Amino acid sequence: MTGRVKVKEGKWHVHDSVCCGREFVKLLSTKRVMVQAKTWVLKQHFEGFPKHTDFELKLEQLSEPRDGEVLLEAVFLSVDPYMRPFSRVRMQAGDVMIGTQVAKVIQSNSPSFPVGCHVVGRCGWRTHTVSNGSDITKILDDWPQDVSLSHALGAIGMPGLTALYGLEEVCAIKSGETLLVNAAAGAVGSVAGQIAKLKGCKVVGSAGSDDKVAYLKELGFDQAFNYKTVPSLEEALKNASPEGYDCYFENVGGPFSSVAIPQMKTFGRIAVCGGISLYNDTTPQTGPYPHLQMIFKQLKMEGFLVGRWEHKNVESLKRMLTWVQEGKLKCKEHVTVGFENMPAAFMGMLRGENIGKAIVKV
Ligand code: NDP
Repeated sequence: MTGRVKVKEGKWHVHDSVCCGREFVKLLSTKRVMVQAKTWVLKQHFEGFPKHTDFELKLEQLSEPRDGEVLLEAVFLSVDPYMRPFSRVRMQAGDVMIGTQVAKVIQSNSPSFPVGCHVVGRCGWRTHTVSNGSDITKILDDWPQDVSLSHALGAIGMPGLTALYGLEEVCAIKSGETLLVNAAAGAVGSVAGQIAKLKGCKVVGSAGSDDKVAYLKELGFDQAFNYKTVPSLEEALKNASPEGYDCYFENVGGPFSSVAIPQMKTFGRIAVCGGISLYNDTTPQTGPYPHLQMIFKQLKMEGFLVGRWEHKNVESLKRMLTWVQEGKLKCKEHVTVGFENMPAAFMGMLRGENIGKAIVKV
């Protein structure tokens, strides 16, 4: 296929269509690459639950990669809950949505990232990116052929690391202890529960549909229930573990937390990973305050961000990859196809449509 593309000097050149098979990448007869990236922009800040009209699809002309730079093409993109609260504190209206992707290097002026290699990049919601290397990490060299690269955004990526560090570094969970995890069928929760089982713990998970509960049982959770249909959350937690909980991996916050904290054992540890039930609030929720429970039971509650243990990531990712290869860590994905469906995938994840990691395949 041939066509015409306008270059910077304003002349039209005949070109061949490219290797990477995307209409936006045109290989000129001079072997120079001109790229228009598709991007999803935050048109206006979210008010309450995000809406389609909060997003806008835009085209962006990319400049030629200079010395030390690479041109990336997105293969898989991640949609994550943090994008909702971070959009408010890290972004302005008109910015490209923040986010991580697995991308292929399609042009390189950097020996560290040769053409054809794959990276995980903090590129945002964009199909193509010119990067100087500071915001990208090469995927593990020994990544096996039979493991999808998309898992570098899930169990063998940031969400998996979050689960691992929440359990090991924050909860310091030990064999024989009982763990409670909510949003348990999601990217982080499903890995947290499985790692706790690998460590010889009893695991109780809550999730928002019967299909999710069935999945948790498949994963080997000892007890699982649908928090939306149980007559009483308090009774469900008591029935699942009458002796209480040593550790609580908190993904949800809000009213769930108010009911769960009194179920903790003395000296229990709570890893505050997320509070997704609060992210779309326009006015802050107030609830029963946990102070007396925390004092009388001498609980430890610690919030954390996965990046705190970045120095351990390579070793940790290798451990997770080994578990996946040995069949000890299952990683389901909820894949939405098409870059144009990024907003729908994001909102679907916030609504709870995903079992496992929510991914967009370009
Ligand atoms: P998930 O894959 O778990 O997807 C989000 C899930 O949250 C949904 O599927 C839904 O499951 C549940 N959910 C949505 N709304 C509510 C609600 N109002 N009440 C209860 N549950 C709700 O996402 P992740 O695994 O990526 O993230 C899980 C949590 O971990 C989030 O809070 C996230 O912000 C946090 N996180 C924190 C990190 C850190 O460094 N601290 C890093 C990564 C994630 P269901 O059907 O079960 O309701």
